[in-house]
Amino acid sequence: MGTFGRKIVGSGADEIIKMLNKALADEWLAYYQYWVGALVVKGPMRPEVQAELSEHANEELGHAKMLAERIIQLGGTPILNPAEWMKNSNCGYDEPKDEHVLKVLEQNIKGEQCAIETYSNMLKKIMVEKDPITFHLVRKILEDEVKHEHDLQDLEQDIKMIK
Ligand code: FE
Ligand code: FE
Ligand code: MG
Repeated sequence: MGTFGRKIVGSGADEIIKMLNKALADEWLAYYQYWVGALVVKGPMRPEVQAELSEHANEELGHAKMLAERIIQLGGTPILNPAEWMKNSNCGYDEPKDEHVLKVLEQNIKGEQCAIETYSNMLKKIMVEKDPITFHLVRKILEDEVKHEHDLQDLEQDIKMIK
């Protein structure tokens, strides 16, 4: 922790750390959902879908790293036990029991939409707490989630056009 770096954030720092930890839980669950989804998925355009899911998995892992680093900078502790992920998550986890491409895509689109909503709400709260560094970080993640939703919906649309 940088003491002055935390001081400029002020009294809202603990609240921000809590929000960041909940988002961290979401990112790990999203990472695994994409990672395992890419392995089990079946159906039309499988290679394209697998490539997109794997790419998103890596990006979610990157988000987890950004969040954990910021938590530490603010003097907090990132969630240390995976058992805490489900308990703290905003968006939960959608088990890809049906491996059909369209089903897997639908689950992940739902996940991205939840992420977009969650990060948008976080931005509004962080604006009140006045922490420009966390604001910038969350804004960057939100930008990625918007792109994820777009990429998945494009794929879904293309697969539905196959006749
Ligand atoms: Fe993410
Ligand atoms: Fe995403
Ligand atoms: Mg993509």
